[in-house]
Amino acid sequence: MADIKNRVLIALDYDFTVSESVQQEPLFKEFFDRIRSVYPTYRVLERVEKLGFNKELPVWGLPVEVKDCCDYFKVSDEQQYKTPKGMGWMQQMLFDKDSIFEGKLTLEKFREVGQKGQVMSPGIPDGLWDLKKRYAARGVDVHFAIISIGLKEIIEASPINDIKDGEHLIDAIYGGEFYYDASGSISRLAYCANSFDKTKGLMQIVKGSPDLLDKLVPRSNYQFDYQNIIVVGDGFSDISYFSYARQEGGIPIAVYKLNDVNEYKKTYREVGERVDAILPRDYRPGSRTVREFDRIITRMVDRQCRFSQSLLHEYKRQRIKDEPTILYIEKHLGNCTECKDEGAYGVRFVPPA
Ligand SMILES: [Zn+2]
Repeated sequence: MADIKNRVLIALDYDFTVSESVQQEPLFKEFFDRIRSVYPTYRVLERVEKLGFNKELPVWGLPVEVKDCCDYFKVSDEQQYKTPKGMGWMQQMLFDKDSIFEGKLTLEKFREVGQKGQVMSPGIPDGLWDLKKRYAARGVDVHFAIISIGLKEIIEASPINDIKDGEHLIDAIYGGEFYYDASGSISRLAYCANSFDKTKGLMQIVKGSPDLLDKLVPRSNYQFDYQNIIVVGDGFSDISYFSYARQEGGIPIAVYKLNDVNEYKKTYREVGERVDAILPRDYRPGSRTVREFDRIITRMVDRQCRFSQSLLHEYKRQRIKDEPTILYIEKHLGNCTECKDEGAYGVRFVPPA
């Protein structure tokens, strides 16, 4: 493995980051008639009234007809309104495993959904291989990880988990997992990943093991330098994860559907200045997005200055109030071309052409 300075991690979300659809959609489509017959409608939680200590009352909107197979998530949001999202849909499937899914939610079924049902973004996986190979030729190791609140079993079987000549494209996959009973059908929750757990997944990769999560690990033992980490997501569930990565010196990037102006605007509204770049979901060699990755990776591995990028970012957002710190940052900016021209100032928003 290359020296830590020449090691770069790109941590990717799955749904709408490397794929163009929801990973469970083919499954819900197959059982849509049964979903609709068991749950013809769903309600949206409008608010929760606080009735004093430990007492609350959910206030629901009017019933809405289930029209799309992915409305099953909305059914789950109603049925499991107290449950965090990543756990909610998994628990809902356990509850409905016989009534809707006819005992067919097996490991084989999830693998089939991963292999045959996924619509990957342009350039997945070949563009990532190309990126990895180009940097390997320069002595830079580019590693990829998938951190998702979806299902590990589906992602593992999907086209992004590619292997060429014995080499794995993806180093690690984080997502929810089920236990299975003797008949092969899902029986219990093994692990549920919620939005906040994306941060945990990232920390685990950086520290090198889940066992080290709660332990103090000296930075010199980290597998990756946070300043050499890019985290990529679609924005919606990634706010705290993006903030954490940036606070540690990493580069958060949000992606949107290629050529889709409305998705670009939506992403901008959701994440705005919280990311270093908003780019189209297009990983084909030579694409604008790949060129931006190149710019960022080159900056990471060529960097000489070790000034805190998160401090620069706070400065840029005018969050720093004390004079001595402001003077300290301004003095550095006056002397450092790397920080002045790039660093926290290299924010790129790339709308559809
Ligand atoms: Zn500098």
